[in-house]
Amino acid sequence: MKKLQNYIDGKFHAPISGAYIDNVDPSRGTVYSLIPDSGQEDIMMAANAAKAAFPKWSGLSIEERSKILVRFSQGIEDRMDEFVAAESMDNGKPVSLARQVDIPRAVSNLHFFATAILHFASESHYMEGVGINYTTRKPIGVVGCISPWNLPLYLFTWKIAPALAAGNCVVAKPSEITPYTAYLLSEVAAEIGMPPGVLNIVHGLGSNAGDAIVKHPDIKAISFTGGTATGAYIAKTAGPMFKKLSLELGGKNPNIIFADCDFDDMLSTTVRSSFANQGQICLCGSRIFIERPIYDKFKIAFAEKVSRMKVGIPSDPNTKQGAVVSKDHMEKVMSYIALAKEEGGSIVAGGNQVTLEAPYEHGFYLEPTVIEGLSFDCRTNQEEIFGPVVTLCPFDTEEEVLKMANSTQYGLAATVWTSDLKRAHRVANQIHSGIVWVNSWLVRDLRTPFGGVKSSGVGREGGWEALKFFTEPKNIFIKN
Ligand code: NAD
Repeated sequence: MKKLQNYIDGKFHAPISGAYIDNVDPSRGTVYSLIPDSGQEDIMMAANAAKAAFPKWSGLSIEERSKILVRFSQGIEDRMDEFVAAESMDNGKPVSLARQVDIPRAVSNLHFFATAILHFASESHYMEGVGINYTTRKPIGVVGCISPWNLPLYLFTWKIAPALAAGNCVVAKPSEITPYTAYLLSEVAAEIGMPPGVLNIVHGLGSNAGDAIVKHPDIKAISFTGGTATGAYIAKTAGPMFKKLSLELGGKNPNIIFADCDFDDMLSTTVRSSFANQGQICLCGSRIFIERPIYDKFKIAFAEKVSRMKVGIPSDPNTKQGAVVSKDHMEKVMSYIALAKEEGGSIVAGGNQVTLEAPYEHGFYLEPTVIEGLSFDCRTNQEEIFGPVVTLCPFDTEEEVLKMANSTQYGLAATVWTSDLKRAHRVANQIHSGIVWVNSWLVRDLRTPFGGVKSSGVGREGGWEALKFFTEPKNIFIKN
């Protein structure tokens, strides 16, 4: 069975412990590769390599760094089919989704920051008759990047790209549940001649390798995407060490539908915003609020479309719902469907596990599920499920829907559907979230600030925000 390796100082290494973790193919429920169970010593080795590489990497001209990162991006594109197949195999997502979204976006992330750095500039503040302030922005040094399983390479590169472009050296850990494309990325780094030690990719459990990154004294900043509880632990641990922190955490996003919207556009987009990637995108809308005059029309049309979505093997081009990422996650989602019923909800569509034919009979498949009849403040409507489950809730007034939409501890993203421009602005401005899409969903411009408020995180990624995070500003004043 294939054993993945860590990539440290430009070389491939087995974990120092010699121990490995099973890597499961969610479409079949079987182990298909092994990943290093790395710990403190592996992280120490990676941090030392990164520290040693930092003076030279940060000393390169931005044009030279940019060229290396453009080659890095191209290296993924050159092995597109292999990356697409690996992402689908590791995560359970349809191959078509990995081909349309995940891997092209990883290519774009690297290319975007490889070229953005060429335009990154710092400020100066002239004081009339007094002097001038100018601000320098220098890379931090060694930084840690920790990412989740839902969009594995997409989110991994979203952090690594700005960190490297800004001149930092990186110790990165992908999710232990979906490590494969990060391993392929380390092969590409070696192929394109990334200088040794600049990017180190260490595999392992969050509680072991991840924790060692967070605690390592030479790793001065942590960019983390994952669950809110893990984010809280990282903040508690790294806070007293005064590390810079960027935390992109959980969500429970509202999708607010007014009766005056373009119904057909809203309906097809809402199917996607509810169930893309089996509902396992932090930006999916899981609470759908519908203005009462169109509630029944929406419910019937939505349930009909959702019931027709094919749950199937990831390689089938007709599959709309692949496998969810793991057995544990499938059980968690099923437990929330049971909870919703206990809380008085009724199932409008789905609600069941799906067993496919051999050899996929042990895969982790769920029907896309729609539930109605729940109060906005019950647990099902307050806690993050992060799977193919949405709830429907009617509303009568803007005031009422805003109260319900803003009632959770989360505040990542929201969607608003209306043809009334004034209302669109009014409602978008009153939603407590970092991102609002009006009459659309997941339209991404990599220059925009990306992140959430409340328990959805601290800090923003994307564009200048990311380059600012990965640099340390210094103001220098010169008297006239
Ligand atoms: P998770 O928090 O369990 O794990 C995320 C990463 O952190 C993994 O690499 C894991 O190994 C590591 N980790 C776990 N414990 C750690 C510790 N003690 N110290 C250091 N690292 C540790 O999250 P997950 O289950 O992989 O991902 C799902 C979550 O991610 C959901 O809550 C989802 O909303 C969130 N998410 C947020 C965004 C966003 O941009 N806000 C994007 C995608 C996913």
